[in-house]
Amino acid sequence: MKVDVDWDLCESNGVCMGIVPEVFELGDDDMLTVLQPDVAPENEELVRDAVRQCPRQAISITE
Ligand code: SF4
Repeated sequence: MKVDVDWDLCESNGVCMGIVPEVFELGDDDMLTVLQPDVAPENEELVRDAVRQCPRQAISITE
């Protein structure tokens, strides 16, 4: 699974980082970084959760 963020939609609120910090990191500069674009199998379910809970629907996945 690969994960991608639409930077035009993301408002850097950190919801995704709260769900799966191994994959998403919000820096001190308020910029979100995808630490793990190729999602490890053990994080896949959490990333699906982040997709569902992102208030901006900015996260997309490809299988
Ligand atoms: S939850 Fe969505 S809007 Fe919030 S930081 Fe993550 S990708 Fe951006």
